Amino acid sequence: MTEIQAPTHCPSCNSSLEWSNHLLYCRNSDCDSQSAKKLEHFAKTLKIKGLGPASINKLGLTSLEEIYTLDLDTLCEKLSSDKLGQKLFEEIEKSKLVALETLLPAFSIPLIGKTAAEVMFKYLDKNKTYIPNENIVLQSTLHIRESSQQIV
Ligand SMILES: [Zn+2]
Repeated sequence: MTEIQAPTHCPSCNSSLEWSNHLLYCRNSDCDSQSAKKLEHFAKTLKIKGLGPASINKLGLTSLEEIYTLDLDTLCEKLSSDKLGQKLFEEIEKSKLVALETLLPAFSIPLIGKTAAEVMFKYLDKNKTYIPNENIVLQSTLHIRESSQQIV
């Protein structure tokens, strides 16, 4: 039987890989593969149709902020289609209206998935308008930490 050797470096950015709970992780925050996956996850969570791996590549996107700096002309030009550009432009505009419970899990923050986001927003007044800031995330994270300690 041949023993399979685990890789020691990231195949994408060549950084040293780190073991954590029997899984290998690339901890380089500038890793291209990770950026692309974060973008895909963001687009999928916000249901931005037409922003899959191929479009992300064609548009040369490397960060989430860049999605919202694209204008209609750039989209049409880079996708080589006025029809696709127009459609994606509308999808991106539509994504600006999603609920905070949907938006938060889209950022790929460890441990902040759909359930955690729902717990966080349960404590907010639905009739108030909130602007996300570090305090809300921090307080909600502390609450989740307290709740999970109670479970343990
Ligand atoms: Zn990497």
